[in-house]
Amino acid sequence: DALLGRIEQLDPQLNSLITVTAEQARAAADAADERLSAGQGGPLTGVPLIHKDIFCTEGVATTCGSRMLAPFQAPYSATVVERLGAAGAVMLGKANMDEFAMGSSNETSYFGPVRNPWDLEAVPGGSSGGSAAAVAARLAPAATGTDTGGSIRQPAALSGVCGLKPTYGRVSRYGMVAFASSLDQAGPFARTAEDLALLLGAMAGFDERDSTSVEHVVPDYTDGLSRSIKGLRIGVPPEFFGEGLDADVRSRVNAALEVLEGEGAELVEVALPNMELALPAYYVIAPAEASSNLARYDGVRFGHRCAEPQSLEDLYKRSRAEGFGDEVKRRILVGTYALSAGYYDAYYRKAQQIRRLVADDFRRALEEVDVIAGPTAPTPAFNLGERSDDPVQMYLSDIYTLAVNLAGLPGLSVPAGLSRGRPVGLQLIGGYFEEARLLNVAHKYQ
Ligand code: GLN
Repeated sequence: DALLGRIEQLDPQLNSLITVTAEQARAAADAADERLSAGQGGPLTGVPLIHKDIFCTEGVATTCGSRMLAPFQAPYSATVVERLGAAGAVMLGKANMDEFAMGSSNETSYFGPVRNPWDLEAVPGGSSGGSAAAVAARLAPAATGTDTGGSIRQPAALSGVCGLKPTYGRVSRYGMVAFASSLDQAGPFARTAEDLALLLGAMAGFDERDSTSVEHVVPDYTDGLSRSIKGLRIGVPPEFFGEGLDADVRSRVNAALEVLEGEGAELVEVALPNMELALPAYYVIAPAEASSNLARYDGVRFGHRCAEPQSLEDLYKRSRAEGFGDEVKRRILVGTYALSAGYYDAYYRKAQQIRRLVADDFRRALEEVDVIAGPTAPTPAFNLGERSDDPVQMYLSDIYTLAVNLAGLPGLSVPAGLSRGRPVGLQLIGGYFEEARLLNVAHKYQ
């Protein structure tokens, strides 16, 4: 009730939620109370939670931030939603997001932009901007998000909360609306690394309904949180501290690294020589996969359908023209172009080759060090409207996060102070399935 009241009071300004599920939340909270009083609860029993509106929720609208899916109600719930529900978490509502998770500022949402609780002139980051803003504004202690190129870590950084993108395959993508299937991964937002650990423990695990989910034991992520990081080798790549990094962000991140050094960690320079190729490769691969995934929105099977179609082609054309926003159309155009006959080898195949080089860079670096650290985003939160007319400027917001998705590695963003009143994030990157180590380092830092 306290949080629902807070949502009512604050969210008209923030716009972090697309749907509030007050009635279901109260019923679920009552059920949680009963379980707790019968001594049956777990660590998440009764914990209020907000789901990014990319996760299918049976009986509740799933819009993916798009007009295309505004009328859509999924007939089933995503595995992430099911698992957190089974662990006793109570869904308060569905979070605003960039349309089909394409964006870095939450300004491409059909439901309007989200404002950053630290400064209402600023964006919260994206695409999981609603999730990040909701946790930052204390509308809920936890939220889910998805990260295809940075969409958990970057909004976590810009909104001053913790966010974790797990290893690709760690968390099931079943029931998560697809953007770029080889990059998409779900993960949690929370205030602390400890809370992230509890949430990830409930979300992670093999799911036979997602063929890319990995059968790998799910540890108790809270177990080693307080372990000493004395002697831990932290790789610092100069490529993350080059041109384009805001001076203030640089000094906040360096101060954070000093704190880790104070905890006994050793800072080691590592090279990621192909890092500058990650952004162009990502912006071929992600749109290519998106153009294929979004072909299903044809006005027939899901969501928006134009009025009075004159022919099948007219139905496709107008439903898609009306249902999708500008950024989504831009991605579909880029993606279909990159995949078309005659261009495939020049763009898509080349991008896949670069993807391998980027992954090899990380593999080599992680043979020398235990984790890699750097800034999550090159600047603190920018103002609403500041980058919306310049897609390339917008794409640069994810310059430090994209490569991690190309490699499929886990990455975490933890708040590292403020710059001009706006939050800065420290990014930690680990080897495959080393989420526990990232959580340990973040916990020691916090
Ligand atoms: N901002 C990046 C993009 O627009 C990443 C989005 C994401 O991770 N979902 O593609």
